Parts: sequence; structure tokens; C-alpha cells
Amino acid sequence: MKRKNKILKFLIIAIFILAGMATLKFIQPEKIPNDYTIILVNEKHAIPENYNPKLTQLSNGIYIDSKIYPDLQKMFDDARNDGVYPVVSEGYRTHEQQYQMMKDKINSFINEGYSGNEAERLAKNWVAEVGKSEHELGLAVDINADLLYSSDEEVYSWLADNAYKYGFILRYPPDKEDITGIDYEPWHYRYVGIDTALEIYEQQITLEEYLS
Ligand SMILES: [Zn+2]
Repeated sequence: MKRKNKILKFLIIAIFILAGMATLKFIQPEKIPNDYTIILVNEKHAIPENYNPKLTQLSNGIYIDSKIYPDLQKMFDDARNDGVYPVVSEGYRTHEQQYQMMKDKINSFINEGYSGNEAERLAKNWVAEVGKSEHELGLAVDINADLLYSSDEEVYSWLADNAYKYGFILRYPPDKEDITGIDYEPWHYRYVGIDTALEIYEQQITLEEYLS
């Protein structure tokens, strides 16, 4: 009798553990691919909780994923040789910084007279929710012009033609808003590695399409 109880107890515990594992698997966000530089992050794919980028700090204080640093550096050197002067204006953001950005945007809409619910809805059109911004990966950079020497348009145009050679893609193109869910952002570049960037550039597709 005692032995039977023990077996029963063991079975019940085993079922609980297995059920727990199944639930965990179910709610687990995006898995980190073998080549982590092609990880998909958007409204439907959140950054895994165990994602922990290795960072490098740029001379202007902004952090980026260490892996993208050499190619970013080379891209900027070559741009300058072509007479175009880019600067990184946004790089890695912590989850706390992303949360704060969202909070600030909601408050700015509330200050404009919108209700809390409306402000939240509107803010989501402008700012990604926590865990859903590529900036929280460290693999995305916003690139603008050093306005002493270049215009933003010159920089955006140079990047659109050349960034893929260094492993960066224009992540939110003008005609792909229905796929990316984000309005055209000529400044937002995402590192995916040189081979992937070339494929995406040549086929004129998005990261969503490349991975589907
Ligand atoms: Zn950006």
C-alpha cells in the first residue's frame, strides 16, 4: 500500500513538472537563433528574457553590440571618404530606458489633452513596447548627419545605397509598412551580417520576409 502511494505521488509530481515545462515552452518568447544577429524583434516577437548583449561604447557615449562595431566603424570611415558625415544618434537601450520612453510619450499625449487610454494607444504608434524594440538588442542604430558637414538627406541616401555592404539593412523601408508594422525610418539601420544584408538588399525584402 505504502509503495503504491509513493508511486502515485511520484507520478503526480512528474505530471506537474511536465505540465510546467510545457507551459514554459508555450510562453517562451522568441528563441535566439544560432546566428543571433538575425533575431527577429517586432510587435509580435519579443526579446527573450535571457538575452544579454556584449556591449561596446562609442566615443559619443552610446552603446552598441560589440559584434557590429568593426563593420560600423568601417562604414563610417568609407562614408567620410565619400564626403558624407554620419553620426550614431541612438544605439542600445535598456528595457528601463524603453519603458521610460513609452511613459514620456504617453505623458506628452496626456498633456495635449488626451485621456489615459487614448494617450496609451497613440503612444504605441510612436514607441515600441518594452522588449519589442530592436534598440534593446544593441543591433540597431539610428544614424543621422553631423550637420556641420552633411545634411540628413545626404547621409540617408548614402546609407540606402551602401549600408548592406557592411551588414546593415534599412529596417523599415517606405513601401513595407504593412509588413514591418513601422512607418518609414530612413535613419534606422539594423545589423544582420554581410551575407544576410546582401540578400535582403538584392531581393528588396524585409527581415520578416527573409525569415518567413
Ligand atoms: Zn531606431
